[in-house]
Amino acid sequence: MKTEDIAKLDEKYYSPVFGTRLPVSFVRGEDVYLFDSEGRRYTDFLSGIAVNCLGYSDEGLKQTLCDTVNSLMHTGNYFYIETQAKLAQRLCEATGFDNVFFGNSGAEAMEGALKLARKYHYAKGKPRAGFVTLQGSFHGRTFATLAATGQEKFHTPFEPLMEAFKHVPPNDIAALKAAVNESTAAVVIEPILGEGGVIEISAEYYQAVRRVCDERGALMIADEVQTGMGHTGELLASPSLGAVPDIVVLAKALGAGVPIGAFLARGKAAKAFAAGDHGSTFGGNYLACAAAYYVTNKLLDTDILGHVKETGAYFKNRLAALKDQCPVVKDVRGRGLMLGLELDAGVSAPGIKKKLLGDGFVAATAGANALRFLPPYVIQKTHIDSLMEALVKLLAE
Ligand SMILES: *Cc1c(COP(=O)(O)O)cnc(C)c1O
Repeated sequence: MKTEDIAKLDEKYYSPVFGTRLPVSFVRGEDVYLFDSEGRRYTDFLSGIAVNCLGYSDEGLKQTLCDTVNSLMHTGNYFYIETQAKLAQRLCEATGFDNVFFGNSGAEAMEGALKLARKYHYAKGKPRAGFVTLQGSFHGRTFATLAATGQEKFHTPFEPLMEAFKHVPPNDIAALKAAVNESTAAVVIEPILGEGGVIEISAEYYQAVRRVCDERGALMIADEVQTGMGHTGELLASPSLGAVPDIVVLAKALGAGVPIGAFLARGKAAKAFAAGDHGSTFGGNYLACAAAYYVTNKLLDTDILGHVKETGAYFKNRLAALKDQCPVVKDVRGRGLMLGLELDAGVSAPGIKKKLLGDGFVAATAGANALRFLPPYVIQKTHIDSLMEALVKLLAE
């Protein structure tokens, strides 16, 4: 089907929430490339928004999924599920957390984590309702995760929101200390604010969150939906910032394209839920767990994360050099293969993103006026070189 015909159907029958989309429809993927219906090739620096971490030609993943489709995709959680149990074991053993729950998306996993924090305090006999999150954060689109999200533009049409959420400026320890008190159930934090513009959280601040939570009896929840599962070159970003949260939330890259979210808990937080407190029809089914088990094993048993670190450092250096070359580049941020390039207000990041697409590169924007790059982990330096060539031209215009 032609892209403009798909667009007509979309305009007529699909909810208008995505507005006018980029004028491309992909029909096939191969390695780190996407192909449109006219056979044009694009190099992928977005991975379907941090999802397709293994690119498009991982034969092992395809085989695992085909085998699962051919045997059994879903039974519901009334029964034991082997891959679910093994995936839980692998994730817990690799991260040091005690248990996990699987849902279907980032927002849903966040919801579960927020419920778990409330239940933790309830079970202690001292219920606490409040949550402290960061200004500029993004935690999802459901009512609770919308309220957790520290960006006004998402809130206004949906008020009144859940009242429990306070937003504090990132990397401001004094503001954090002033906001967290005896009614705070948890502090929720992304190690790097993704949708907010690839804003890095300092190790000092991250550790202060841990300390303040311990002092005031609140839990620390890391939203690693975007940073987690290898984007920074580590399975989780939290340990490299020097603090271990009580609950960590995953999704996006976890299933490499198959929808799955998760929250992991440790210590007393892992014991807070009892039978009946939470659940899911689809969550943790055979298909989703087959994908996530494959991804987790791949990240842990091969050197792919080493490759993420190495190509990520190379990429960031090239972006930093671009900053010296092009005055419109204001800042280079991020770690591993989660990088952002803040542009001067005079140059539109969405405009550059569109032009990049015209040049055969898929990228995204985030935050105030930043380009955001989240390529599949199998990206090579030569792909980065090609992108840089296109970027230099566009930013010198
Ligand atoms: C994408 C994202 C979410 C929401 O995930 P969905 O799967 O879209 O519900 C939550 N938190 C962070 C940090 C994200 O990047």
